[in-house]
Amino acid sequence: MPGFSDGPPGCVKNCNAEPEDKCAKAKKYYSQKGTAKLPNNADYGKFGWESKRTKIENGKSKPKWHGGVDVPGEIGDPVYAVTSGKVFTGTQKDLGTYVQQTSGKGDQEYKTEYAHLSKILVKNGDVECGDLIGYMGRSGNVPDSSPTHVHIQRYLTKKTYKNPEDPTTLIFGK
Ligand SMILES: [Zn+2]
Repeated sequence: MPGFSDGPPGCVKNCNAEPEDKCAKAKKYYSQKGTAKLPNNADYGKFGWESKRTKIENGKSKPKWHGGVDVPGEIGDPVYAVTSGKVFTGTQKDLGTYVQQTSGKGDQEYKTEYAHLSKILVKNGDVECGDLIGYMGRSGNVPDSSPTHVHIQRYLTKKTYKNPEDPTTLIFGK
C-alpha cells in the first residue's frame, strides 16, 4: 500500500520532509477522492446533510443527521491522519473499527475520528498529520447501499460527538 515517505531509507523520521509536506499530501489525496455519493446522487459525503434514511428516536421517525464527512474509496485504500495528536484505537457498533485522535489543548482540545476501517496500522500514541493510520473498509454501520468510505468526524472534547464541527476544511485543506 502506498504511504508517504518520511525520507530516504535509513532515515528515522522527517529527515528531509517537514510534517507539513505529508500533511498537505494527505489533504490533496482526500481532495482528489472527494465526497461519497449515494445512487440518487445525494451528497452523502457532506457534513450536516440530512439523510432520507431515518432513525427512530422517542418513538418518532426523524432524518438521520450526518456528523462527519465521508471520503469514498475501495476496501484497502489508505487512510491518513488529517491532524497531529495522540491516537487511541477501538471498535464500536456504528463506527466499526476506528481511530480516535486527540489534538489541541484545554478548551480547544478536539477529537477527530476515522471510522469503518478494515485495518488499523497505528498503536496508541503520537501520530503526525499525513501519517498512514489504516485502510478503508466497511466495518460498523455501513448500509449495503452506501459506497465504501472513511467517515471522518470531529468535535470539541468538552462537547462530545453529539455536537460535531464541520471537518471539511481539515480534511480537504483550503
Ligand atoms: Zn459518514
